[in-house]
Amino acid sequence: MADPARERRPVTALRGVGDALAARLAALGVEQVQDLLFVLPTRYEDRTRVQPVGSLVSGARAVVEGEVQLAEVVFRRRRQLLCKIADGSGFLTLRFFYFSAQQQAGLARGTRIRCFGEVRRGPLGLEMVHPEYRRIFDDAAALEPTLTPVYPVTEGVSQGRLRMLVRLALAELDTAGVRDWLPSEITAQLALPSLREALRYVHQPPLDAALDELEDGKHPAQRRLAFEELLTHQMAMRRLRESARVDAAAALVDHEALAERFIAALPYPLTGAQRRALADVTRDLARETPMMRLVQGDVGCGKTVVAAAAAALAIGSGRQAALMAPTELLAEQHQRNLQAWFRPLGITVVLVSGSQPARTRRSALEVVATGEARLVVGTHALFQEGLTFKDLALVIVDEQHRFGVQQRLRLAEKGQHDGRHPHQLIMTATPIPRTLAMTAYADLDVSVIDELPPGRTPVKTVVLAETKRDEVVARIDAACRSGRQAYWVCPLIEESEELRYQAAEETAAALTDALPHLKVGLVHGRMPPKQKDATMLAFKAGQIQLLVATTVIEVGVDVPNATLMVIENAERMGLAQLHQLRGRVGRGSYESSCVLLYRAPLGAIARARLEAIRESNDGFLIAQRDLELRGPGELLGTRQTGLARMRVADLVRDHDLLPSG
Ligand code: ADP
Ligand code: MG
Repeated sequence: MADPARERRPVTALRGVGDALAARLAALGVEQVQDLLFVLPTRYEDRTRVQPVGSLVSGARAVVEGEVQLAEVVFRRRRQLLCKIADGSGFLTLRFFYFSAQQQAGLARGTRIRCFGEVRRGPLGLEMVHPEYRRIFDDAAALEPTLTPVYPVTEGVSQGRLRMLVRLALAELDTAGVRDWLPSEITAQLALPSLREALRYVHQPPLDAALDELEDGKHPAQRRLAFEELLTHQMAMRRLRESARVDAAAALVDHEALAERFIAALPYPLTGAQRRALADVTRDLARETPMMRLVQGDVGCGKTVVAAAAAALAIGSGRQAALMAPTELLAEQHQRNLQAWFRPLGITVVLVSGSQPARTRRSALEVVATGEARLVVGTHALFQEGLTFKDLALVIVDEQHRFGVQQRLRLAEKGQHDGRHPHQLIMTATPIPRTLAMTAYADLDVSVIDELPPGRTPVKTVVLAETKRDEVVARIDAACRSGRQAYWVCPLIEESEELRYQAAEETAAALTDALPHLKVGLVHGRMPPKQKDATMLAFKAGQIQLLVATTVIEVGVDVPNATLMVIENAERMGLAQLHQLRGRVGRGSYESSCVLLYRAPLGAIARARLEAIRESNDGFLIAQRDLELRGPGELLGTRQTGLARMRVADLVRDHDLLPSG
């Protein structure tokens, strides 16, 4: 069994490791001796196959063995050590720009060395620049019975040094052992090796190891390590959640049957999936521990109604509810919709936004504080200083992926009242594959709305080169002539916001010229909110037929009569974002389409991504594809989800190791 004190020894406990080296190792995440074992090789090389020097070709990586003929320091623009070796089949030059006197002395004429490196053509024939090499004293030592690991490098820590340190750590593994947290029944069931076997294998694989498997990270030894890491992460998230579970919350009982009345007043019945999600929420809210539930559902699946019903439940139990939206536009839209739903029930919905006139804002803050405002809608302005709730019992966060975990927590903190925490309902349209959601949101319960309201026609998507702009303008014309409306989304210009707004303005002007009989509107983030609001309202009311916009319309805006969406420079956008944008059309019963314009030439990945979005309307499928094409970091945004960076595991590659269900 492992000795705990020994387990936690700092790297400096190893022979030859001083403070300077320890600092460089820290850059690799290595602080304790054990950490060295978890610096995994990025690839392996078979250095046992020694090639005759005479058979070397330029560009290849090779192992050669030979006798030093000559080693001299020369000046050719730079001071360098040239060493010539021979093995009877030919000569090879080794060139070193950095070398010590000791190293030079070690390469005396007659010394036998084995070296490994890339062969290239130099002024004196074939050569290796800074090869790895070692001296051969007797043949037994020269035999390396394993593949040679190649580690990720950090400045100041050479491959040789790192290998030596890992060897020392492995030797300790034999004497001191390592604590294997996984019960052997589990590893046996998964046909995975023990931790010790796994570590030894990944650092010193036998010569006949399957290199392909190793380099793809799919060897059982690697999977053993990944499994442990995923499990640890999972358990840490669980613990976080458990600690939240000991907090107290008010159990909400809807005495006024407000939620029921709200649902009954809707012009449509809830879908089965909406009902299931709402049942989950209702159950959670009746408990005396804070709900922490994520409702995940594709764009247009009707999350707002579920959130509103939850708010009704909180209000019906005599408390306040708050809804936080990522943009002002969306907050305003929510406030309008909710107001329309709740006014007939005698409930005021108050908007708190950063851009409100001071007086409006002051009176909003006042009614929030007195509790007269029972439902409060806003942006992140909701958790800024100056805003106090009377008794907030439910916090709803819309489009969670736009907020940081911190912002969510701060709002929850703000709602603390008499030592009780508000319940949290988090909504997201980011369709994360379920396995990933389990990991990314392991501190939350998840309800999935996997059903769209009936009567929707799937959006038809076409991918066109930007040169076909005229064709697209003709399509807009046709759609608007038949009484429908259209969106034109301007390109994402990363470099500067200014450029982005300028592009949007120019596009709007050009489209106005091309389609003089249409009313063209423009919204972008830099506009005064009032003007933006007025334009959106006019679009919603059908007074504007073509809306040119930057990606501000990405989330939530609901105009069922809009049936055509054009997205410029689609190749630059993330798939999740394109899918969100596309979700703005196809909200009514009309046939809708989405035109993705791209600027040629299109790279292979960009092409594959546009294909993926063209072929599917299923957000989950698209997310899976996005994941395969780009990796989870980009899809989720590590910062936004609080998703831990993994060391060994790869959420996509190792997804089958994640707990399911
Ligand atoms: P999202 O999940 O993207 O936030 P919304 O809540 O904005 O979707 O809903 C999209 C549209 O679907 C809205 O116009 C909403 O009124 C409508 N809707 C929601 N639920 C239903 C339902 N059960 N039947 C019909 N339409 C619905
Ligand atoms: Mg929404």
